[in-house]
Amino acid sequence: MSFAASSLLRWRQSSAHNRLSARFHAHLPTTSSSIAAFSTTAPSFFQCAAVNLNRDSSKGNFNSSSTSSNPCDNDKNKKRTGSASALFASASAILTSASIASSSSSADKPKLLSTMPPAAATPNHSKVVIIGSGPAGHTAAVYLARANLNPVMFEGMMANGFAPGGQLTTTTDVENYPGFPEGIMGGEMMDKFREQSVRFGTVIHTETIGKVDLTSQPFKLWREGEENKEQPTDTANSVIIATGASAKRMHLPGEETYWQAGISACAVCDGAVPIFRNKPLAVVGGGDSAAEEAVYLTKYASHVYVLVRRDKLRASKVMAARLSNHPKVTILYNTIPVEVKGDGKLLKSIVLQDTVTKENRTMDANGLFYAIGHVPATALFKGQLDLDEDGYIKTVPGSTETNIPGVFAAGDVQDKRYRQAVTSAGTGCMAALDSERWLEEHFPDQH
Ligand SMILES: Cc1cc2nc3c(=O)[nH]c(=O)nc-3n(C[C@H](O)[C@H](O)[C@H](O)COP(=O)(O)OP(=O)(O)OC[C@H]3O[C@@H](n4cnc5c(N)ncnc54)[C@H](O)[C@@H]3O)c2cc1C
Repeated sequence: MSFAASSLLRWRQSSAHNRLSARFHAHLPTTSSSIAAFSTTAPSFFQCAAVNLNRDSSKGNFNSSSTSSNPCDNDKNKKRTGSASALFASASAILTSASIASSSSSADKPKLLSTMPPAAATPNHSKVVIIGSGPAGHTAAVYLARANLNPVMFEGMMANGFAPGGQLTTTTDVENYPGFPEGIMGGEMMDKFREQSVRFGTVIHTETIGKVDLTSQPFKLWREGEENKEQPTDTANSVIIATGASAKRMHLPGEETYWQAGISACAVCDGAVPIFRNKPLAVVGGGDSAAEEAVYLTKYASHVYVLVRRDKLRASKVMAARLSNHPKVTILYNTIPVEVKGDGKLLKSIVLQDTVTKENRTMDANGLFYAIGHVPATALFKGQLDLDEDGYIKTVPGSTETNIPGVFAAGDVQDKRYRQAVTSAGTGCMAALDSERWLEEHFPDQH
């Protein structure tokens, strides 16, 4: 089974998925009747929504309520428009949940779908949309929802290879996130993040954003599968990008079996766990990250072997010297791992290949740490947002502002240095506060 497929399966079996299914089934009658009631008055809601969306925003700020003669300006209609889109949004979330719920509900689907237009066909406007559902996205959601900004989150549907909840759904114990003295399973932690976002009113769509246009206000977003449509599926005045990153993997024979059972891509996250204590460990890579990870692991390992493909390190002189001089480190040049082996539960050895002679040998090791780079999930934004040489979104130092006013980036997608859950949550908070301030300044009447 592919990594993506196994993650999806894990997620489908997780409490998040069960909760979504339960929520769908529990709310089905109410929601259907709400949708039916909504449909009868939909045109006027849509007219107002369209008017509010299409107003001229060329007067220095983007205040969409500047046309006072518009009948949609009265409070009642504004509220109705808002609740219309909120209803569509939550209906869409429930429908999407339904579509990924167990096939036992399939008998209900045609009937349900026929009661409302597909949500993706309707442009939904929000003050702020969050793309991504890791610690950064959910922290932003909690802050924005508590500030009454009605955030809408696209949590992704195996976007970038991850289940909703992000990278932590692929790990077991998280022991370094404050507030959980006994540690917590990664998936469970992200369930809690999600619950907190929902508790304060975040509307969550289990869908991936497939295309964006950030060149003008309102920002335009297309859900995956709808990218070829002329009209966007969603619009927003502010966008928070929290799409994360993924560690590059080698896909060695045996890797699927021993991923997170000896193989890791994060020494800071996993180095201290008991299976690595006083054991020989290996790090793959020759750059600064590999050097940092290897030195970090010396605190726990009996010895650390650094596997370097070439005959020299790419790391900076300082890091290379630190590594070479460390008594618990051996650098194996011209060496790559080609297979991992174990007892079916835990990694026990690595088959190494000499890149010059092509000879293989087996080395005992209880851990293999990949330090061969990360790929930030920024393909969607190329050509629109300023990215650095490794593809990370550039933000103004000390803030989450990107080069486009109103677009903010948080979490691993803009951080190639720390890449931790708590730092992602921290920048998620910053992005929410930055976005809130920006909206207040540019859309004061909507605030
Ligand atoms: C195996 C493993 C173990 C780890 N253990 C720890 C640990 O113990 N402690 C710790 O602090 N850190 C740990 N980390 C690092 C931590 O998981 C990350 O730093 C953190 O998850 C980054 O959060 P994020 O919010 O930036 O994004 P992510 O967690 O990467 O989440 C991004 C989410 O956005 C979604 N997405 C992407 N593109 C789109 C799109 N176009 N539309 C909609 N959704 C989209 C993705 O599907 C994903 O769900 C670990 C990482 C891994 C891989």
